[in-house]
Amino acid sequence: MKNLRKFYLVIFLAAIAVGSFSFSSDFKVNSTTDSEVVACKIGQCSAIAKSTGQQCKNCVSKAGDSNCSQHK
Ligand SMILES: [Zn+2]
Repeated sequence: MKNLRKFYLVIFLAAIAVGSFSFSSDFKVNSTTDSEVVACKIGQCSAIAKSTGQQCKNCVSKAGDSNCSQHK
């Protein structure tokens, strides 16, 4: 009976470990999504996004363009 209790305790702790691991990985994904870093091959759109009042985070599609397709 004592061994069975230990077995359930191990399962319980393993479930917590898996749960906290998946939570931390979700948190990492969210922080990456919220990152301000923009990596564009050609360049970032220079227009100001109306929704946020900050510089548009879209990338320009052609070399020489300063605005993305939404701000032309
Ligand atoms: Zn734009």
